[in-house]
Amino acid sequence: MNAHEYPIPVSELDAGGKEFRFPVRSGWLRGALEGHEATSAGNDGALVVRASKSGHDVVVHGTLDAELTTPCARCLEPAQLKIHSNISVLYVPASRLAGEGDGERELTDEEADTLPFEGETVALDDLVRDELVLEIPMIPLCSEACPGMSPAPDPEQAGDKPIDPRLAPLLDFAARKPK
Ligand SMILES: [Zn+2]
Repeated sequence: MNAHEYPIPVSELDAGGKEFRFPVRSGWLRGALEGHEATSAGNDGALVVRASKSGHDVVVHGTLDAELTTPCARCLEPAQLKIHSNISVLYVPASRLAGEGDGERELTDEEADTLPFEGETVALDDLVRDELVLEIPMIPLCSEACPGMSPAPDPEQAGDKPIDPRLAPLLDFAARKPK
């Protein structure tokens, strides 16, 4: 019984490393990005990593590819996002990160991202979700040249616009209606 989408069983790893390929399912993407404007573009992505044991730690390198769609910041039409992200993470047993090692292991900024894992499984789920969200641009555009919502119906003018003469009879009718 395993609820993880991207599990890496630590017991199968050695120093030489092993490759894991996971589909990044469209349905999973939708769930993972719930509450975010971006969502799956409908296709499955791919997560390909190489995991190896380093002492008690697990080193994970690889790539994440996925296609997302999010509203264009200018025209609000769907903008396609192709995510291609390099992954490089050091997973450390949670008990060691908690400081029980008593200075045995000092983490430096230069080190690869360091994340905790518990038990015999390194789950990449949170990592994948975080990578996706990080890769979504602050101002997504459907294209660099997106002109925005043009021809722009100026909202300030819209109110003062003369009524379409073709609608005049309808307005007359409405005005004449009792009540
Ligand atoms: Zn646009």
